[in-house]
Amino acid sequence: MRRKLAAGNWKMNGLKADLREVAALLTDRPASGCEVLLCPPATLVAAMAMTAAGRIAVGGQDCHAAQSGAHTGDISAQMLKDAGASHVILGHSERRADHGETDAVVRAKTEAALAAGLVAVICLGETETQRDAGETLAVIGAQLEGSLPEGLTGATCVIAYEPVWAIGTGRIPSLDQIAEVHDFLRDRLVARFGAEGATMRLLYGGSVKPSNASEIFATSNVDGALVGGASLKAADFGAIVAAL
Ligand code: 13P
Repeated sequence: MRRKLAAGNWKMNGLKADLREVAALLTDRPASGCEVLLCPPATLVAAMAMTAAGRIAVGGQDCHAAQSGAHTGDISAQMLKDAGASHVILGHSERRADHGETDAVVRAKTEAALAAGLVAVICLGETETQRDAGETLAVIGAQLEGSLPEGLTGATCVIAYEPVWAIGTGRIPSLDQIAEVHDFLRDRLVARFGAEGATMRLLYGGSVKPSNASEIFATSNVDGALVGGASLKAADFGAIVAAL
């Protein structure tokens, strides 16, 4: 049985004062058996981990593939772990687009995350052009092959399907389209990782809101969500947690 996961990605948002949202989430947290993860900017990982006090998991949004060294401005997986993170988002489409991250880079970063004892939340997704061209499954299949290292398990990785055109746009795929991709991902994971592939959580991400969360969560092979904008406020994110 895969435990549901509500994950929030704050992206480049959040100052110390915004930790009050985490405190509010802890106070008002709806009764739900799901796991909750928040990934703030790196500057807030340590402070958020203190606030969360183990009741909400905290993650980074990226890490370098190396453990340490001459990489100005970068952060290693070990540093995230040291700051109190248990997870790290890798291969988000904004990193792939803004920083030219390839599948090979995402794979190397995933290996670094695993070596540091972090759970890797690996993101995949097609652009609108690719969807319109009927390439969605081919693109996602290739990203899956290229971005995932060998030896992953349900305990060490989570896969997030985030159609690029649904991120921050208020548009979401139809539930059939989400099911098609998630079923496809499940098949490919089982084909590659055997029984472990059946235990890996598959999150949907892209314009998840309190108003659409329930129907998305009821969709085949959707084990939770990776939420951007709606994770910034405790009221919205709490409602999404409640929907799980
Ligand atoms: P939005 O929920 O703001 O569309 O962002 C989704 C996302 O990119 C989460 O990683």
